[in-house]
Amino acid sequence: MPTARKPAAKPAARSAAAPDAGRATARADRKRATDPGERLGLHSDWDWALHLPLHYLDETRLTPIAALRDGVGAVVQACVRRAEVGGGRRQLRVVVDDDSGSLELRFFHFYPNWSRQYAVGKALRIRGEPRRGLYGFEMVHPSCRVATPDAPLPQRLTAVYPSAAGISQDWLRAAVAAALRRLDLSECLPDELLRRHALPPIGPSLRLLHAPPPDTVLAELEARTHPAWRRIKFDELLAQQMAQQLARARRATLRAWAMPTGDGQLAQRLRQALPFTPTASQDACTAEIVADLQRAQPMHRLLQGDVGSGKTVVAALAAAHALDAGFQCALMAPTDILAGQHLRKLAEWLQPLGVGVAWLRGAQKPRERAAELARAASGEAGLVVGTHAVIQDSVRFARLGLAIVDEQHRFGVAQRLQLRAKGGEREPHLLMMSATPIPRTLAMALFGDLDVSTIAGMPPGRTPVRTRVFDEARRDAVIARVSEQIAEGRQAYWVCPLIEEGDSELRAAEAAYAELQGALGEHAAWVGLLHGRLPAARKAEVMDDFAAGRLRLLVATTVIEVGVDVPAATLMVVEHAERFGLSQLHQLRGRVGRGGGASECLLLFAAPLSATARARLQALRDSADGFELANRDLELRGPGELLGRRQSGLQALRHADLAHDADLVEHARDAAAWLLQHAPQAARAHLERWLGGGVDWLAA
Ligand code: ADP
Ligand code: MG
Repeated sequence: MPTARKPAAKPAARSAAAPDAGRATARADRKRATDPGERLGLHSDWDWALHLPLHYLDETRLTPIAALRDGVGAVVQACVRRAEVGGGRRQLRVVVDDDSGSLELRFFHFYPNWSRQYAVGKALRIRGEPRRGLYGFEMVHPSCRVATPDAPLPQRLTAVYPSAAGISQDWLRAAVAAALRRLDLSECLPDELLRRHALPPIGPSLRLLHAPPPDTVLAELEARTHPAWRRIKFDELLAQQMAQQLARARRATLRAWAMPTGDGQLAQRLRQALPFTPTASQDACTAEIVADLQRAQPMHRLLQGDVGSGKTVVAALAAAHALDAGFQCALMAPTDILAGQHLRKLAEWLQPLGVGVAWLRGAQKPRERAAELARAASGEAGLVVGTHAVIQDSVRFARLGLAIVDEQHRFGVAQRLQLRAKGGEREPHLLMMSATPIPRTLAMALFGDLDVSTIAGMPPGRTPVRTRVFDEARRDAVIARVSEQIAEGRQAYWVCPLIEEGDSELRAAEAAYAELQGALGEHAAWVGLLHGRLPAARKAEVMDDFAAGRLRLLVATTVIEVGVDVPAATLMVVEHAERFGLSQLHQLRGRVGRGGGASECLLLFAAPLSATARARLQALRDSADGFELANRDLELRGPGELLGRRQSGLQALRHADLAHDADLVEHARDAAAWLLQHAPQAARAHLERWLGGGVDWLAA
């Protein structure tokens, strides 16, 4: 059955075409866009070969007009009987017929010369989606070509490619076909490997995807589960996994300072001085990190754990080990608030044990900054805490041995590299922390070159946060509840929505601030406001006031999303929760339930809810497990959203879909190891094909 499968293939979305318009448009394309390939991000022949169709049209069969079906795309061979311009809305109407019946073609956009091309008697091949009109079938903006009835039909399904404005499908098809002809598509992977992973050869796979024979199961192609698709995804993941394994091997040749356990037993003393006992899982993670630190190869480890699982103390214990061995330690966090909080906590823990702590942030008085820089450079400060300021050129360390990056997904590869470069003669050990739990597949796909330590579970004494969802229409009731709780001495966050334009986001926060101050009446002074535009000093002041309980209700934009730790706060309200992602809401909710008290999270949403937004809020209400939610989020949104766009590696995966191709990631990982060991030449050829000169993106 001839079909145009997807809405994008509706005639209106195609270029309105006069006979032979395909070629004319292609010429225009070439003039208009000097290089359509550049516009589509396609540079090499290989890029073109991998520019894979979104869906397909079946033009291999003709349908008699009498056999057309409403809404089912078809190709018709017919002759022009009449063509006229007119109608209420000015349009070109062309009536065509074949032996079985007649059909009206309607064009709302057309050029005057078209009427000549639609001369009576012209034989046309017409592709479009028929609609039943008043007087039989009609097609709006079909694509037409002059063609005699005996002109051959395509033998293959017609590919429809992702495109950009002004680049026609005909032109794209020609460009892809030319690239495929020029390319050497011979197999570069050994038979043995293909057999083991049940994969078809690459050349035929690509040819099939670009021009499938008519009997191919379209559903499999379009769902990207066809073996040919599996091969493409596998190849992509294989290249990526090999690059990561190579990066890991390269790193193994780098030198770091081995840090034997010192005599000072600083870590031991820190552990004893803590107001709590680390959990078994925290201890296990610490032990893994310490084992890395004792070796002369740089550590490259991700410490992950759900929000509130207690990563900071693990970082502190690792730092204590490095300090004890005579090295400096740097800790970088993405925001002033978070860096400030680490500073306070680490200073509180480590200063009494004789460790000097320096503090670097963006907006800092020159004299203060100079003093802190001097302490880092002289080694007087064993621990240097800060924001991006830590990686600036002016920052020198006497002997940096360990670099810790909190909320690592907020930083780019380049920034991590800059931090590593601060080590001088040898590489510092690198510990990355993430509170966005990364599902196993994703971690493997993206961080195949990382070691991962995971804090399982939560410190004892946490009570689960009760999550409830409210329609914005019940805002007053929610405000009343918050005021009541505040009056009873509880502390709460009120998070305002994320809005595209920074200014209105601010205004929303300010409005909520005024509203809540009003609601609290004589206790208006208990309400604080925190947003990204406040000067750093003011932000710190507000956070301090909230942490000390002088403020009881903190109205904030999402600046508090990451890492903020005020155990006394037990109530969290999120406005317009439908605008947040699942992981983000989980992070926000993680700000409460940190102390002993029963905690609550109230999610306000504005109706109507989209299906995904509803699924998100439900998932959140039903689960408190960050890993489970991250998996769910991965399904709902895809990895790009989950990790933030700056995460390296994601852009590199164009075809594989980590939410659905988990099994392929494992195949690819095993195949990568095998290939590098047993067929290094094939491995090189494969990498060259897939990554060209771009292998370095994985170096960090
Ligand atoms: P996250 O993993 O989200 O960074 P934090 O390191 O901020 O979490 O820890 C959350 C809270 O739990 C902090 O107040 C911290 O002091 C506390 N905490 C961490 N470990 C334990 C533990 N083993 N027992 C009790 N409280 C702990
Ligand atoms: Mg944290």
